Amino acid sequence: MTLGDKEKVAIQRLKAFEPQTEPYFLCYSGGKDSDAIRILAELAGVKFEIHHNLTTVDAPETIKYVKSVPGVVIDKAHYEDGTQKTMWNLIVKKGLPPIKKARYCCSELKENGGKWRIKITGVRAQESINRRQNSGLVKIIGKPKTTKKNAEKMGIQYDETPQGGLVLNFDNSESRRFVEQCYRTTSTMVNPIIDWSEDEVWEFLKHYGCEGNPLYKCGEKRIGCIGCPMQGYKKMQEELNKYPKYKQAYIHAFGKMLEKREEKGKPTYNWKNAKDVYNWWVGLDKRGDRSCQKVTRKHRKNL
Ligand code: SF4
Repeated sequence: MTLGDKEKVAIQRLKAFEPQTEPYFLCYSGGKDSDAIRILAELAGVKFEIHHNLTTVDAPETIKYVKSVPGVVIDKAHYEDGTQKTMWNLIVKKGLPPIKKARYCCSELKENGGKWRIKITGVRAQESINRRQNSGLVKIIGKPKTTKKNAEKMGIQYDETPQGGLVLNFDNSESRRFVEQCYRTTSTMVNPIIDWSEDEVWEFLKHYGCEGNPLYKCGEKRIGCIGCPMQGYKKMQEELNKYPKYKQAYIHAFGKMLEKREEKGKPTYNWKNAKDVYNWWVGLDKRGDRSCQKVTRKHRKNL
């Protein structure tokens, strides 16, 4: 399939699942894939709102770029009492920095928008094995028993993800009716570029005159949060040295986290101060790797 064909298919997909009574909720991170879906939604002529979830650890360049997009809405996450959720207060609340095995920040800060709306995302299967196994053209999460029962009643072809989500890979009228019927009670995502490669995304953006987030020009391959544990120790260290204010903010939060742990009589392992937590977190303290295992096992249960 040529890129031109893929563009037509993606436009068709967006038209097929467009909600009847409200605009799509377009999830915009400021990365290249979200630029591609933004342009595709314009080409499709569907109604959509562009939303960026503020993680509070986005790079300043990304925030500036996101704000330059016309009509973008920047959403902040809040606790029940109305206080804003930030990476810093989450670290204190959870009693642990975000780590690969306990990345609570994604669900708390990044994926909380668009409840009971049909979301457009820039998810692509090529990005990771996890995305290949867990995503498709449409992904529906929540109320698995009822959703499966309804899908079967309507004769919908679906796959189940290892995490219990439902994936639809056809944009026929039955799938559309099904999505329309269940999106108010589930988390429903339409992924129009699920089968695009990275090169195709760049070629598409170039064709439409979009240069993308300036961080790509500085050699970044992915646009994410500063200090994200998913990128590995080396990259974490490089990034936090590049953005010393964020490094200080993390260390400050680790200090408060330790105080809270002590107050509650919880173990502080081999961390004597905030810098020890930081060194363990970015992989500079090899002894810390062993206590990390203890910490994660205990903590994951309570997160
Ligand atoms: S730091 Fe990483 S794991 Fe946390 S919200 Fe950002 S992308 Fe998700």
